[in-house]
Amino acid sequence: MGNPNLLQVDGLYKSYGDRKKEHSKRQYAIADINLSAVPGEFLTLLGPSGCGKSTTLRCIAGLEAPNLGKISVADRVLFSSETGVSMRANQRGLGMVFQSYGIWPHMDVYKNAAFPLLVGSRSSRPPAKQVRERVERALEVVQLSAFAGRSATALSGGQQQRLALARALVMEPPLLLLDEPLSNLDARLRTDMRFELKRLQHEIGVTTVYVTHDQSEALAMSTNIAVMSNGKVEQVGAPSEIYTAPASEFVARFVGSSNLVVGTVSSASGDDLVVKTPAGVVTATSQVDLSPGSEVYISIRPESISLVEVDNPSPELGEWEGMVEGTAYLGMTVEYRVRVGDIEWTVVSSSEKPLPVGTVVRLEFAKHGCAVVPMAVK
Ligand code: ADP
Ligand code: MG
Repeated sequence: MGNPNLLQVDGLYKSYGDRKKEHSKRQYAIADINLSAVPGEFLTLLGPSGCGKSTTLRCIAGLEAPNLGKISVADRVLFSSETGVSMRANQRGLGMVFQSYGIWPHMDVYKNAAFPLLVGSRSSRPPAKQVRERVERALEVVQLSAFAGRSATALSGGQQQRLALARALVMEPPLLLLDEPLSNLDARLRTDMRFELKRLQHEIGVTTVYVTHDQSEALAMSTNIAVMSNGKVEQVGAPSEIYTAPASEFVARFVGSSNLVVGTVSSASGDDLVVKTPAGVVTATSQVDLSPGSEVYISIRPESISLVEVDNPSPELGEWEGMVEGTAYLGMTVEYRVRVGDIEWTVVSSSEKPLPVGTVVRLEFAKHGCAVVPMAVK
């Protein structure tokens, strides 16, 4: 039986240099990366600069040679350190778009899109009719048909971006690899292109691996997100899963802004955990089994907190009580800074009845808004 995954990456390691050093002494840019994507999936590698996203993508593309591991696409082994398979990039037949999309300025839009089909020996090229059909189809998909005869340099940033995409699609690749393709566009266009790219990807149904350091881009576009840190994958999951149930402190901090508070599990029944923190007791749901006494973080998203004004506050503040120390009006919402004990909380609420600085408030949260994040075992 074939592998149901279109992309399968197992135990991938890559170090730059250190060729002569033995395995245990090398500095790895990526270490033990395992990933998979089903057909049609939009998989995003998300993480801060330098965490190994591009290295992973370039290994899949065949632009870097991994030290160890295995990469297969559509049941074809592209790389395997065990069997010594290492296909060249141009044999892999994958589509790629980079941050700098490398449009040829001396060619028109049509020739740019046709370029991948016209390189190589004459005998290896598709027949002229097929080239024309495939280029026309690719330009149509990215809505550039009307610009076919125009010089590529006469296109706007967003159009050049779409042309780079057409050039990747003209190969009709089983897998599309995109490395921060929107990062050179200005903010407004970048958000527009998010929808555009997602629509295109969905329409064509091409399995895509997308690299970004922008968490909102990742949350908006992906079927699954692999959050990376320090050359490792920290968590893989659907955007809502990554957001509501971060598996580590790193994921909780990196994806969305989160309030993290340290606590100790005092009792557990089913999925419900009662956790004691310096600010008060909180009930949270947990996917992981944790016994009483375990140290954990509780991650609470700013929008999952309600602020309740405390009438006649006593000088000894009660559980979860604190003071509004700062407010920022954001239009639809207000962002608050609230000090509770030693911790400054970030809270986002509707701007209907904003609370002024100095108000004594109690934080209230729904159980489903509180995620238990296990502490890393040191
Ligand atoms: P990201 O794309 O997540 O920003 P990269 O994959 O580019 O991260 O880099 C991962 C690590 O590998 C970084 O420490 C980076 O400095 C290093 N690195 C990347 N490319 C090279 C290279 N060509 N030579 C040496 N080190 C590299
Ligand atoms: Mg990169």
